[in-house]
Amino acid sequence: MPALDYPAPIRELILQMKSLPGIGQRSAERLVLWMMGRGHARAAELARALVQLEQRVGICSECGFFIERDSACGLCESDKRQKTVLCVVEQAADVLRLERSGAFSGLYHVLGGRLSPLDNITPSDLRIRELAARVPALGVEEVILALSADVEGEATSNYLADSLRPLGVKVTRLAQGMPAGGGLDHVDEMTLHHALSGRRAM
Ligand code: ZN
Repeated sequence: MPALDYPAPIRELILQMKSLPGIGQRSAERLVLWMMGRGHARAAELARALVQLEQRVGICSECGFFIERDSACGLCESDKRQKTVLCVVEQAADVLRLERSGAFSGLYHVLGGRLSPLDNITPSDLRIRELAARVPALGVEEVILALSADVEGEATSNYLADSLRPLGVKVTRLAQGMPAGGGLDHVDEMTLHHALSGRRAM
């Protein structure tokens, strides 16, 4: 006789939950059982939100930030932004952190991560070619690198600076004062403000 287990749909959802970052078998089980305990309405709401995510959210082909499908990018298409300064960040969430600091009014470029030989993330996995194309196309005068202050972030910054040098554009990075080993998510808005205003040439 096979060992008793959850019905297949529950097992499937547990499996899906487990594939999310930071969720292990026990957390996945707890979440799924909690949803079952709340009746089908909760599960239906969650399903609807996930479908909307898939159907309505896209990525701006220019900056890499999120857009609602079929609408213009609120950052790239805004005429209130300074188009000659481009700030390079690792993740879309970093754009919001910089926006909330109020320290930057130029354009953004989301790389989609950083170089990491251990995780097999190479330059072709990041939006580096797109960056090199945008600089001359927009007439960018300064590229600010706002990447993590850890080994991989440093390596990525150096790689980008070398790639951008032939384009004759000024490349700067955030000032010291960023916590070593941390990304922008470890920094409060004031520190971010200082790090941006005290940026230095690479
Ligand atoms: Zn955009």
